[in-house]
Amino acid sequence: MEFVREAGRVAGVVVERWSAAGNDRVVTERATLRADRFVLAAGSGNGELVRRATGLEMPTFTSFHQLPYIRNAPDLDLVQARRPAGADGSRDVEIADLPVISHWRDIYFRPEGSGLVFGVHHRERQDDDYRPRGGVIDTGAFRMHVGMDQVLVDRMVELMPHFPALSSHGLNLGRSPADIAGGSYYMNPEELPFEGEVPDTGGTVFYAGSGCGTGFKLGPGVAWLLAQRLWGVPRADRLVPSAALSAERATYFYPPGTSREELLRLFRPVAAGGRLIEMGAAGIRPPG
Ligand SMILES: Cc1cc2nc3c(=O)[nH]c(=O)nc-3n(C[C@H](O)[C@H](O)[C@H](O)COP(=O)(O)OP(=O)(O)OC[C@H]3O[C@@H](n4cnc5c(N)ncnc54)[C@H](O)[C@@H]3O)c2cc1C
Repeated sequence: MEFVREAGRVAGVVVERWSAAGNDRVVTERATLRADRFVLAAGSGNGELVRRATGLEMPTFTSFHQLPYIRNAPDLDLVQARRPAGADGSRDVEIADLPVISHWRDIYFRPEGSGLVFGVHHRERQDDDYRPRGGVIDTGAFRMHVGMDQVLVDRMVELMPHFPALSSHGLNLGRSPADIAGGSYYMNPEELPFEGEVPDTGGTVFYAGSGCGTGFKLGPGVAWLLAQRLWGVPRADRLVPSAALSAERATYFYPPGTSREELLRLFRPVAAGGRLIEMGAAGIRPPG
């Protein structure tokens, strides 16, 4: 996507329609969409859009998280519970009765049908277009390629003695990454989503996102804050009067050419010269 700039403002975006020709894309149509204001809400695509619109660099990095499935195998025998579902709660679904979040070990389990999914809060920072590559389980006696990324394999093996479900026959290790659900945590050093104005656009481009692991539950609030900003609601009257969920809480836009290493340094703990505030997998700052 290209941005059309006029007199220091972004005046439009060029969008393309394309069709696939083998492995190539053939552009069949281009059109310029003009508007007074634009909101960038493209998940892990947001950093690239800001770069294209302004050249500015952001301390936002992908951290790809996979959620392996553990079916309810005989060695688990999870208790099942009936819960109301649907908008009016008129139908029942049966699910495993076992939601668990552990901040202490940085792993969480959630019911998924009659089984579970689990995730770990790893801190690898990858390129924004990162796709999982799979990993290797190597016990010395055997070596097996699995769909879980290595960072997840290593963490899972470490946590197995504490969470027997990880040793269950029901665990799907996956043959390739495509066998395991996953997606991007789009991280920033404060580990919370934010909204705000993108500088150098004459007040025409706005940012919403970088949800880290909490953008789903906080997304509606962040979107409302941005709407209030666009309507000109004074800060004191907004949903969150502080800058806690807004770009003003820290520096997010760095000069063109700022290196990846420089931006990654911000993810060091405060005591080490960075500004990382660990919020944990549930968007809650763990004690200590
Ligand atoms: C495994 C996992 C578990 C999670 N669990 C939780 C949880 O329990 N609670 C919670 O609150 N959050 C959770 N999250 C985080 C949450 O899912 C994200 O923070 C949230 O989805 C981000 O929303 P978004 O709208 O900013 O971006 P996205 O949901 O990524 O949406 C961006 C959209 O923009 C599209 N797009 C990208 N580039 C362009 C472009 N150039 N032009 C047009 N469209 C584009 C993408 O295709 C996508 O549809 C989890 C994330 C993962 C990966």
